[in-house]
Amino acid sequence: MTDETPLVEPGTFDFDGDDNLVLPKAVTDAKVRRKKLSPSTMNALVDTSACPARFAADKVLPRKSDPFGVAEIGTAGHEVLEYLFALPGAERTPEAAREILLSQADKAMAPLAAQGGSDDVLHALREKWLGEVETAYKGIFDIEDVTEPDVFGRERWIGRKVKINGVPISGVIDRIDNDDETLLPIDYKTGKVKAPGKYGDPHGDQLRLYALAIEQEFGTLPTQAKVYYTQHAKMLSVDLSEKKLTDVEDKVARSWEDLSWSCDESTFETVESPLCGWCPLVNICPTAKAGARTAKIEAPTPVQLGATIPVGPPSLSEGEKKPTKEAKAVTKKPKWREDKPWVETTGEGDSERINPNAYAATAVFGLASRALADITGYNKSVAGEPVDPFPINRTTVSGLARTYAAIISDVQEELSSLVDWSAGLNTRLRSALFTATELHVPPFGGTLDDWDAWVERVKKNVVLLMEIGESIYDEPDEDDPWIDLAVDSDGEDTDG
Ligand code: SF4
Repeated sequence: MTDETPLVEPGTFDFDGDDNLVLPKAVTDAKVRRKKLSPSTMNALVDTSACPARFAADKVLPRKSDPFGVAEIGTAGHEVLEYLFALPGAERTPEAAREILLSQADKAMAPLAAQGGSDDVLHALREKWLGEVETAYKGIFDIEDVTEPDVFGRERWIGRKVKINGVPISGVIDRIDNDDETLLPIDYKTGKVKAPGKYGDPHGDQLRLYALAIEQEFGTLPTQAKVYYTQHAKMLSVDLSEKKLTDVEDKVARSWEDLSWSCDESTFETVESPLCGWCPLVNICPTAKAGARTAKIEAPTPVQLGATIPVGPPSLSEGEKKPTKEAKAVTKKPKWREDKPWVETTGEGDSERINPNAYAATAVFGLASRALADITGYNKSVAGEPVDPFPINRTTVSGLARTYAAIISDVQEELSSLVDWSAGLNTRLRSALFTATELHVPPFGGTLDDWDAWVERVKKNVVLLMEIGESIYDEPDEDDPWIDLAVDSDGEDTDG
């Protein structure tokens, strides 16, 4: 049974008539206001899909300490790398990394040991923890020859006096290498690879911010910056062009302005997106409710969030009546501007929009059209049957288009570690998806379990089609492949 102990004072989280989150002023000043801007705060406030209300909630709610939490495993992986690169080059071996890891295990396991449990259980947990942390960092040995870097700094705090666009900056640079008379900032990421794409380029922006900070502290702008995805053994070089650096300076100013305004007013805008499902406020947020967003995690209950307003389950009809933030944002957006197909967006800053001529636009707009066509097709197929037609409205069409997008993104990431709507692989996957949905029609009118099962089934079909396609390329000359299709004169297949 869920422990319904409130995590905050009742009434801490309130929403105004525009569905903005309103916090008591004292709570805002104590927990949300910042003296300096960090890259994560910047990205949490002004990126695509960023929700200032979620940012504020994350600061206000107490954090659970869990040695197996994503953040805790990532921090432990970072620590291994920090100490590994303190060693002379020749001593930076996988065995040395393992030694460092083992030296951390007792401290990490202490909270679990304090809760009691048999030696066998604690030993199993310790082994699990060691395995997860090792997975988080060991890709470093595939990314680079770890014996080579001439390390200038590790876990280096950005200097106290660094200001970008007049905004005081805070942050810790995981590693700085000496690199051909300049400095090379490197950030380790233990999570998924995030290439620049439809959700912006938060990792690139973080490194650009570090490059600008290094220029202020040491007088030379780095010519390179890199993100090492140490779990997936991938490296991304960051674009440090003048335009990109200027964009980040603008982003710094905008996010600081937004944060200052929100804290002064103690009011934080809510912005609906698929990420609502992972937000701790999802069970009380009116914007999530209007967009029919539901929890994808074990989110706090209204009672735990100290809610004073009754909040019911999401309703499609209410989602239809009430314009979502997404819809409001569309009405405020500047006009579309076109560019070459390989340019993903046009305009800058607040005027930035997807280029409707881009390959990526073909992909995402195609999903939206396909979603509407599929619902319409389903309704035609059940006309005259004792089955209700599936409602056609913004929420349902968007929901199906995003479901297709999630399938494509998951499979693309699995196959290439990237989600890139402009990539050739993305085009192949969309084609496979549409073919798979001809066979497995979406379970319109079904339960969440039905949809979960359908998504998994379609993903498998998409992967299968990709494998068959590749096998034709790899082994094109197999003799008489139609044998697999033929039946003998008794109607049995020829394999018996
Ligand atoms: S549920 Fe969605 S809209 Fe509401 S605060 Fe969380 S992320 Fe923002």
